[in-house]
Amino acid sequence: MNASKINIAISRCLLGDKVRYNGTHKFDQWISNTLGQFVTFIPVCPEVEFGMGIPREPIQLEIPIASPQIVSVYSNKNYTQDMLKSFKPIISNLLNKSILGFILKSKSPSCGIYNIPIFNNHHSIVANNGMGLFARMVHHQLPLYPLIDEHQIHQPTYRESFFNALFICDRFRKFINTSYDENSLMAFHFRHKSQLQSHHWKSWDIMNQLIQNQSLHLMKRVYIYQYLLIKTILQYHATTYLKSRVLFDLMAWIDNRLLLNEKNELIHAIDQYSRHNISLQVPVNQLRHLALKYDHSDLQNQYFLFSSQQDTFFHL
Ligand code: SF4
Repeated sequence: MNASKINIAISRCLLGDKVRYNGTHKFDQWISNTLGQFVTFIPVCPEVEFGMGIPREPIQLEIPIASPQIVSVYSNKNYTQDMLKSFKPIISNLLNKSILGFILKSKSPSCGIYNIPIFNNHHSIVANNGMGLFARMVHHQLPLYPLIDEHQIHQPTYRESFFNALFICDRFRKFINTSYDENSLMAFHFRHKSQLQSHHWKSWDIMNQLIQNQSLHLMKRVYIYQYLLIKTILQYHATTYLKSRVLFDLMAWIDNRLLLNEKNELIHAIDQYSRHNISLQVPVNQLRHLALKYDHSDLQNQYFLFSSQQDTFFHL
């Protein structure tokens, strides 16, 4: 295993393994050949690891809508409880391999994350908002392990949010495993200021107020902070507008030290980025250079500017 790569769990059929109910695969070339250069994939097929054969009778989600069951399409066998039991060691095994998140196959009653159909006993669709059983268990039990499907990962906006979320969640997991205090929570929050603002400006303010709320016990603040953190990075995608605003804000931190030509070049780069004429990396690299040149520790601490892990995924 390449130590510089991150580990991500992935539905086996996306890697080309013929593990689907009908003995086929759903190989995704971009995931394997492009993303695979930077990621070590830890394959998982919940249905096969549960003990279902290849080929096998297809399964589907069935009512009740509030807690859909996994039922075989023709023989009408309900596998839900047995599958849930089998998923526990599967997930533990993945966590032991230091995964940071999941890329799961869409439309599957086991792996699908969004819009999985739920059927009634007469095989009619009664809802379209189900989540595959394995994905649901991961979602509920591992809120700090982001999920994405193979369609979303092809879309730059979703992909950026996913990788932002992977690294922020990883840092937050490490943070809550330390003997944290008020100051370290503040420091964590401040280092993510620009990143969080680029997803949703107001959320950063709300989180800021939360962590300073002395009437709440620190553990409770951290618990609510986690909820808001996940919501901010996964529900609000970073936009060019907000990233431009963040860049101007960061420029203001160092404004009084800049030479006129440095300031003009930076303003020009941010403006060009906001018009989609150049990539984000151009103004980010300029700000990095200035933060180092003027030894500006607050700028150097911003993950938005200085995160070598995220740089890797900017260019995909
Ligand atoms: S979608 Fe999931 S359960 Fe279905 S074949 Fe692929 S990995 Fe296995």
